[in-house]
Amino acid sequence: MSLSRVYLHYPFCTKLCHYCNFAAGVATSDNFTNQYYNALLQEIAHYKTRFDFSQIASRSLYFGGGTPSLMPLDQLENIFSQFSLQKETEVTFEINPETVTYEKAKIWHQLGINRVSLGWQTMNANTLKFLGRTSTPHDNIKAFEILREVGFDNISVDRILSIHNDTDKEFFEAVMQYKPDHISTYQLSIEDKTVLSLWTKQKKYTPLPDEQAIQIESTTDDLLHELGFIRYETSNYAQKGKEGQHNLGYWNYDYWLGLGSGAAGFLPDDGNGFHYRNHFKFKDYCENPISYEESEHINLHTAIKDALMLGVRKREGIDKKSFEKRIGLTWENILTKSPDPEYFIDTKEFLILKKEMIPLSNPAILSLWDIINPDISI
Ligand code: SF4
Repeated sequence: MSLSRVYLHYPFCTKLCHYCNFAAGVATSDNFTNQYYNALLQEIAHYKTRFDFSQIASRSLYFGGGTPSLMPLDQLENIFSQFSLQKETEVTFEINPETVTYEKAKIWHQLGINRVSLGWQTMNANTLKFLGRTSTPHDNIKAFEILREVGFDNISVDRILSIHNDTDKEFFEAVMQYKPDHISTYQLSIEDKTVLSLWTKQKKYTPLPDEQAIQIESTTDDLLHELGFIRYETSNYAQKGKEGQHNLGYWNYDYWLGLGSGAAGFLPDDGNGFHYRNHFKFKDYCENPISYEESEHINLHTAIKDALMLGVRKREGIDKKSFEKRIGLTWENILTKSPDPEYFIDTKEFLILKKEMIPLSNPAILSLWDIINPDISI
């Protein structure tokens, strides 16, 4: 399988959200953004000596962050010129609503971005404030309208679930009125070294109990289903034909090149692939953009574990034929017995995680790992 997907990380944000533990920070001067841009160009130049850049982003190019929509346009244009995009390449750009202007959106569209992921999160003004977001519900809507107006016909919006005092009402009203093409949902999680974790320790915030979070996920699922969205992955819903191709690549265990601070990548090697993560801290990355913070040549056993774990996230399940081709072994040689019917529907062609077992996906995956043929060790 060839390398045809690229993820590029842009770490800067206007302000840090209260729940954020991503590789993100606030650039207090242009020096930071210029330094980062130069490091990115160095990293790209390095990979140009190793891979065919006419093909490297032929299937997908994904700008994630941080806030890629803060990237200076001249820098973005030059980054684009490093890749040969095909007509069918999916080019996704993550956008924070308050950064959108008509002029910028027009240039993004002209550059070849054909899919945008807009950080709505919630349509409740108080909840946005609680999350430390810089946008208001008005910004969310205005950004959406501008993006549609300049011609984006594939707009995804993010939705964070299970926040105290947040209701689905405003969010679903907005979905019904503006009709995004795709929705990514996430459970609010309390990560170390965030404002939210401090508030939780100080008892100023209490996360919702698991049962309530599961109930909210299920209600969201029902409502989105009624609005014609297809849940094609554990956390992702799309109108027909608007499934995110880049992320499908991850779940199908494709290779991808990861660029930028904290970015992970998975490259072909002589064996089962090479997994790496770039330096997470901005300074470490800029000082040495072509060394890794961690890396590993994947053995066959780990490749099978990873491919199973990712594959069961797809609601259609694991396509056994494709899986066999990807791993190079027959299904019967990979698993020693049938997967636990409590968790899985096992057909001739697909292995599917039962819908009601999605909240229990961790034990379900462990049950699969337990039946991997022990003779597969390398
Ligand atoms: S916009 Fe995203 S990356 Fe930036 S601080 Fe907020 S959650 Fe983190």
